[in-house]
Amino acid sequence: MAKDPVCGNEIDEEQARAQTSQTAHGASEVDPAQGTRIFHDGQWIYFCGLDCRTKFLASPATYLS
Ligand SMILES: [Zn+2]
Repeated sequence: MAKDPVCGNEIDEEQARAQTSQTAHGASEVDPAQGTRIFHDGQWIYFCGLDCRTKFLASPATYLS
């Protein structure tokens, strides 16, 4: 299991989906309900959802210290 660095939840890597991009209407192309992930600084980081990912992206250093 991976750990969400923002809220501390345990994330199942197999359920998490990479955000690929967004549709023309701004919707995510993948369903992030089971978690999501980003590739950051050489490693995959997992989040329980888009809210935590958004917080992380706003200030990565805060959550990686
Ligand atoms: Zn979270």
